[in-house]
Amino acid sequence: MTEHKGMIAFAVFWMAIVGASNFGLVKLVEPALNEAFINKEEFWVWAAAAGFFGLSVTRGLGNFLQSVTMQMVGLRVIETMQNQMFRAFLEIEIRYLEQEGTAKQLSRFTSDTYFLRDAVTKVFTGAGRDVITLIFMIGAMFQLNWQLALFAFIFFPFSVMPIARIGRRLRKVSENTQAEFGQMTAVLDDSLKNARQVRAYSMQDYEAERGGKAFLTTYKLLVKAVRTRALSYPIMDSLAGFTLFTIIVLGGYQILNGQQTVGSFMAFFFAVFMAYQPMRSLAGLNNSLQEGLAGAKRIFEIIDHDPLIKNAPDARPMKPGKGTVALQNVFFRYDADKGVLDGVDIDIKAGETVALVGPSGAGKTTVLNLIPRFYDVTDGAVLIDGQDIRKATLESVMSGIALVSQEPALFNDTIRANIAYGRMGASQEEIEEAARNAAAHDFILSLPDGYDTMVGEQGLRLSGGQRQRIAIARAMLKNAPILLLDEATSALDAESERQVQEALARLMVGRTTIVIAHRLATIRKADRIFVMDKGKVIDVGPHDELVKRDGLYARLCRIQFQDDLTNEETQEA
Ligand code: ADP
Repeated sequence: MTEHKGMIAFAVFWMAIVGASNFGLVKLVEPALNEAFINKEEFWVWAAAAGFFGLSVTRGLGNFLQSVTMQMVGLRVIETMQNQMFRAFLEIEIRYLEQEGTAKQLSRFTSDTYFLRDAVTKVFTGAGRDVITLIFMIGAMFQLNWQLALFAFIFFPFSVMPIARIGRRLRKVSENTQAEFGQMTAVLDDSLKNARQVRAYSMQDYEAERGGKAFLTTYKLLVKAVRTRALSYPIMDSLAGFTLFTIIVLGGYQILNGQQTVGSFMAFFFAVFMAYQPMRSLAGLNNSLQEGLAGAKRIFEIIDHDPLIKNAPDARPMKPGKGTVALQNVFFRYDADKGVLDGVDIDIKAGETVALVGPSGAGKTTVLNLIPRFYDVTDGAVLIDGQDIRKATLESVMSGIALVSQEPALFNDTIRANIAYGRMGASQEEIEEAARNAAAHDFILSLPDGYDTMVGEQGLRLSGGQRQRIAIARAMLKNAPILLLDEATSALDAESERQVQEALARLMVGRTTIVIAHRLATIRKADRIFVMDKGKVIDVGPHDELVKRDGLYARLCRIQFQDDLTNEETQEA
């Protein structure tokens, strides 16, 4: 706010001009009636006409300048908050996004910001102007006829309590509405993202009903808000009715008894009218303000959120090493009630390729998540090059790790940008070299726009194998000593498979690689295999040795790779 001091001062100056013009307009009523019309003074006909004209134009100009300036300040404040919130989302721990849902968060940028923006523009322009005008009008009323002015305000306190109560209620309704908007976004996101499933299973009616439920809930909440908000009209209008009744009766008798002129009474009457308008809009403003505060609460929940995973106060950059990785007696749980890793020890030498194998749910992905600190261990430690990663800066830990996930995540951008994500500022040559090493260069050139081809949302305009190779090129470009690889489970056609395997083989050269393996070829190439089951490492060794032991690993191999093994046997025979 402090950086907008100049603009706010400018706006307040023009608010004061608006208030003073209103005061002038009210004061002009008395001479206009008494001097011009009753005493028939020609000078006052012109003077009053010119005065009304001049003051109205000044008031219009003042309103324009203060309103634009204040709204600019308000909108800038919101823009700053959007930036802060987005930044907070970029730093927030993965756990938060997983637990709260990502689609829901979008509504904080859309509907919450909308409510807040509405409140800020209204409050910023209205509140100052209305309060200043009200002060001028009350001043005018007391100056014109203080006894009448006292009576005019006798009913005022009775309206304050209900207006405040309406505001509080509205805030609660608004909080619920905005949370519901989040739910609605989540449902829509789900249906649209799974467009193929919806069609394939002809689930349009079901989805329509799901959406319909969410729309109906928000509709009901919005109607509740409308009804609550509108309650302020009868309250304010009744207040006006009582006030007008009182001053007409009292003022009427004052005129009948010759205690005041028609002109001064009309000026007073006019002042009451002019005071009533800002009072009424202040009541409305309180409603907008409460709704805005509900939005602000949800926005600040994120801005003020202290990320769970962050640099320790004394964090230092990692000392560069060759890339050894160790999990020491690691325990981990996602939720308080269920342990997922149960004392895991894994020690990986620099340059070694290690495969994690085990039944689904054994904890392999979790191990991979702990190394780049997507989560922190519940107990034990993860060391890279002998250093506890929690004691190093996040950035320095990440800079040593490249990640290739099962569903390669591409951004809706060009292929070039998607590869360059691996290292910002890489030259075209470096990008192409990475693509060549990832067996992607040729197919990229065959696309109509080459490296400038847009990949579509989540890269859906590319084939599965092509997406994989772009992701591999990205990791190539990063050139980090440690590679975390979650091998794709979905089978590619033989040719794509061969290209992806070759690209991966080149990517793994000279790096410490930890791979969740789904292919026999990958497992065979691994120096050591860690067999995991129920959150524990139950066996370690190279493939042949483990097969000979005829334990869980041999059984898994027989189930998973039956086809591969038979193929090999027939080839060998
Ligand atoms: P794997 O990769 O071996 O199949 P995971 O590491 O994905 O196993 O999962 C291990 C266990 O942790 C499973 O029981 C799974 O249900 C649970 N789990 C995985 N991810 C989460 C999560 N984000 N929140 C809560 N539980 C999870």
